[in-house]
Amino acid sequence: MLSVSQAIKQLTESAQVLIGAEVTEVIGARCRVLASDIRAAINVPPADNSAMDGYALRHADWPGCNATLTISQRITAGAVPQTLEPGTAARIFTGAQVPPGADTVVMQEHTTEVDGCVMIDPLPVIGSNIRRQGQDIRAGNVILRAGHRLRPQDLGLIASLGIGQASCYRPLKVAILSTGDELVEPGTEAGPARIYNSNRYTLTGMLAGWGYEVVDLGIVRDKPDEVRSMLLQAADKADVIVTTGGVSVGEEDHVKAIVDELGGIDLWKIAIKPGKPFAFGHVGETPFLGLPGNPVSVFVTLLIIARPFLLASQGACIRTLQPLRQRANFDKPNGPREDYLRVRCTDQGLVLYSSQSSGVMFSTSWGDGLVRLPPGQDICVGDLVEYYPWATYT
Ligand code: AMP
Ligand code: MG
Repeated sequence: MLSVSQAIKQLTESAQVLIGAEVTEVIGARCRVLASDIRAAINVPPADNSAMDGYALRHADWPGCNATLTISQRITAGAVPQTLEPGTAARIFTGAQVPPGADTVVMQEHTTEVDGCVMIDPLPVIGSNIRRQGQDIRAGNVILRAGHRLRPQDLGLIASLGIGQASCYRPLKVAILSTGDELVEPGTEAGPARIYNSNRYTLTGMLAGWGYEVVDLGIVRDKPDEVRSMLLQAADKADVIVTTGGVSVGEEDHVKAIVDELGGIDLWKIAIKPGKPFAFGHVGETPFLGLPGNPVSVFVTLLIIARPFLLASQGACIRTLQPLRQRANFDKPNGPREDYLRVRCTDQGLVLYSSQSSGVMFSTSWGDGLVRLPPGQDICVGDLVEYYPWATYT
C-alpha cells in the first residue's frame, strides 16, 4: 500500500493541465487559476495622497507655536490639486492627492481652524500621514504569477491596477457518479434496504465550492454494463471522473475492474484511514478518481488525495498545507495507516468525536477540522498535534 504522501506525489506528478485558457472577468474569477502573470502597468497608489482628513503643508514653512498658516486651497478626494503656495496650508481629505510643494499632512484632530487660517499643535514629523506613490505596488512588477488560484483579496489587488479581465484556465469539468444498488435520492421514499445518496451532495458541495463545474451523472447501479456505459459518458463529458463506491474487494464492486478494461488502474489502496480502497486510473485518456463509498471516506479522500490532483489539473501551483499545532485533549493509539481524525477545537484543546467510523458523517459536521495522525504514532492527552481546520481546504 502506498503512503498518503507517495499517493499524492504520484497523482500530482501525473496531472496534466487539460484545459485551455480564456479571457475572464476578474469580478467573477474567484477560484480561477491564472494562465499568465499579472504585471502592474501603474503605481498603486498612482500619486502621493493623504492618509488623513487634515492639512497639508511644507514642514519647513511652519512658523512655530501659536502661529497660524493661511489656508490657500481645499483638496477633496478625486480633485487635482494646485501647487501649494509657499507659507500656506491646504485643507485636505483622506485619499486626496497631496499638492506639489507639500511634504506633511497634519491630522485634523491636531489643528484648529479660525477665519481661514489653521493653528497646528503638535506638528508631526516631516512626511507624516502621506501614502506614497507606489507604496503598495510599483509599476512594472509582477504581482501574481501564472498558476496562482485567485482568492477574493487577489481580485481586489488586480482591480487596483485597473485590470478588469485576466487570462485564466477555464473551470475543470468534474463528472461525479454515485455507485450502489442501495442508493435512492433524497426527497423520495427510501423503501426497504435502501439508503439515501449523500455522497453526491458532499461531492457537489465541495467541488462547486472549489470552483469546478460539476457534471452530475447521478446514481449508477452495481451492474457492469451500466457502470461501463456511465464511465464512457463521463469520459466524454468531463475533464476528470470522480466516482464513489464500488472500488473495494466485494463481487459487487465493479468500478475498478471496468476502469481497468476501459483504460487502466494506476494505483489502488492507500494507507489512509478512512479511505483505504481509493483507486486512481484513467478511462481512455480521462483521469479517474475512484473514492470509496463510505461517506466519511469520500469526504476525507476528496480533501486529502483528490484535491491536490484537481488543483494540479486546473493549472494551479500546489503549496504544502501547513497545519496548526494544537493540544489534543484525547488519547488515540494509531495503527499502520495515516489517520485523519474528526475533531473540534475548544478552549480545553482538541476534542475527538466519539465515533471515528467511516460511516459516521455526523463527525464531519460536528467537527471543525482534521487531526493528521502519522502511521504508527499515538496521541496522548496534552500532545501537540497537527490540526487542519476545514478552512485549510478552501
Ligand atoms: P462500497 O464502497 O460501494 O462498498 O460502499 C461502502 C459503504 O458506503 C456502503 O455501506 C454503502 O452503502 C455506502 N455508500 C456507498 N455509496 C454511498 C452514497 N452515495 N451515499 C451514502 N452512502 C454510500
Ligand atoms: Mg457499493
